[in-house]
Amino acid sequence: MNHRIKTIGIAGAGTMGQGIAISCALAGYETLLFDINTESSEKAIQQIRQSLDKSVSKAKLTREAAELSFARIRRVTQLSKMKADLIVEAVVENLGVKRKLFLELEDINSPASILATNTSSISVTQIAAGLRDPSRFIGLHFFNPAHLMKLVEVISGELTKPEIALTMMEFSKSLAKTPVQVKDSPGFIVNRVARHFYVESLKILGEQVTDVEGIDKLMRSAGFKMGPFELMDLIGIDVNYAVTTSVYEGFNRHPKFKPSEIQKNKIDQGLLGRKTGRGFYDYPKK
Ligand code: NAD
Repeated sequence: MNHRIKTIGIAGAGTMGQGIAISCALAGYETLLFDINTESSEKAIQQIRQSLDKSVSKAKLTREAAELSFARIRRVTQLSKMKADLIVEAVVENLGVKRKLFLELEDINSPASILATNTSSISVTQIAAGLRDPSRFIGLHFFNPAHLMKLVEVISGELTKPEIALTMMEFSKSLAKTPVQVKDSPGFIVNRVARHFYVESLKILGEQVTDVEGIDKLMRSAGFKMGPFELMDLIGIDVNYAVTTSVYEGFNRHPKFKPSEIQKNKIDQGLLGRKTGRGFYDYPKK
């Protein structure tokens, strides 16, 4: 554990908030979980339980470790209770929403607390703009599923103190992750490179070169762990679209990052992937 951090507050209890909460609790941190939607945070606690149980059944975790970790996660229903040494924000990929939330979190938390965003693509410097003290603000970008994926991009904004970046590197290691320091630029590294995987696959689909299953199967045979469409379903089509849009805007609407109408149509129909039971594929309830 990191000596400076004992309590972690996670804002946003969706796909990423849940995975980050599990990682923190497994490493021994007291973890608070908040969502603006109380139903979502209730559901998140159930899903965290299921996820820990799954690790026990696969013999990746002992029953004792799972119970101890689960007990370290506490759901909070009021933002005013989100007081912690480190706040990790994992709410919707929207600059305005994130900025507003951090203004409130800055007031609630002590000046010594570190404020981190799990944004996939938005400028860390821009999210921090408007804070009284942007020097303690940083990007901490986990990958999905956050409790399994090792990589964490640690992104300093223009005004982030070097000492905060070092603390976040150490903290990420304490979660058994592999942190990499990355410059604050649209999509950072992984998501910028990965845009082409999605954007080009959606173009191929739009041109009817082949279908969703065909593209996924071929990309898997070419060595990728998952095809682009099953991966978009895992990520959330809305989240993936928001990231592409943000990178597109960040690069002055360069056509190579242009978001796809196919994704937009899925979102308009509420077909967001695994989390809604349907996206490019169907996911019947077990
Ligand atoms: P999600 O849609 O699964 O969950 C977002 C949650 O935030 C929802 O439960 C929503 O109710 C809640 N929320 C919205 N506004 C809020 C507010 N003001 N305060 C508190 N909670 C609020 O999204 P996600 O996939 O978990 O993504 C969250 C963040 O993580 C985004 O910035 C996204 O870009 C980033 N991210 C996502 C992935 C991925 O693969 N899904 C990977 C890395 C990073």
